[in-house]
Amino acid sequence: MFDPRTFVPAPAELAGRVVAITGASAGIGREVALACARHQATVVLMGRNEKKLEAVHAEIATAGLPAASLAVLDLETALAQDYDRLADALLERYGRLDGLLHNAGLLGTLTPIEHYDVPTWCRVMHVNVTAAFALTQVLLPALKKSADASIVFTASSVGRHGRAYWGAYAVSKFAIEGLSQVLSAELEGISAVRVNTLNPGRARTAMRRQAYPAENIDTVPPPAAITGAYIALLGPASRGTTGQSFDAQSSAPSSS
Ligand code: NDP
Repeated sequence: MFDPRTFVPAPAELAGRVVAITGASAGIGREVALACARHQATVVLMGRNEKKLEAVHAEIATAGLPAASLAVLDLETALAQDYDRLADALLERYGRLDGLLHNAGLLGTLTPIEHYDVPTWCRVMHVNVTAAFALTQVLLPALKKSADASIVFTASSVGRHGRAYWGAYAVSKFAIEGLSQVLSAELEGISAVRVNTLNPGRARTAMRRQAYPAENIDTVPPPAAITGAYIALLGPASRGTTGQSFDAQSSAPSSS
């Protein structure tokens, strides 16, 4: 049975594939982007901070890996024409899209529902859910042009079993599971696009620090330790697998 946790990618696992990653500027997204390039994918680095994206782009170029491209898009403020422009540019440049990883995310605040700030709730739901829906919608034509396309939504333990005080973040991750299931059911049998969710588990990033400020971050695995699971889901190893929810690590005792 397909299990991304134990997957070891071949050196050229993603050769010939065009893979777009949101939130490629930092944390897990940055590491996955670098790993995809190392495994020979052409990566479209998406994010809101051009400087940070350029640094990832430069790292890929310096290593002599397939040339990446940048797509600057702030998921909080982007309008319909921004999404359309990006989809048009991607289709014009590559003619198709083989992988789409929705990784960008906002934590919001850890607060009881009774006191949760409404504008913060709306921002988190917008970036974590609505923007992922909108981006998927505009990129579906490019994904349908691929012979073997994969959409991966980033899940969370608190979006599979609700946990007190995780507020909009937890609710947004439940919504992502729903979006993934609905979309996979719609596409199954009529396209070569598969759709799954992946919960990274604990990873040493800025978001983890924000969620657990008292934790010794050195005890948390670095994002580089979990990139194999992402490559498994984005690449040929997961062909034929759709509508499923996966974990990148075996146990995630207090993951967000
Ligand atoms: P980070 O906070 O380190 O990175 C978040 C990424 O999302 C950054 O690239 C950030 O860009 C981007 N982002 C945030 N807001 C926007 C926006 N408005 N427009 C575009 N990009 C935006 O988080 P992680 O790497 O830890 O998290 C990545 C994913 O993994 C998230 O979906 C998170 O929910 C999930 N996750 C993480 C866990 C962990 O332990 N780290 C556990 C479970 C799930 P910028 O660099 O500009 O800030």
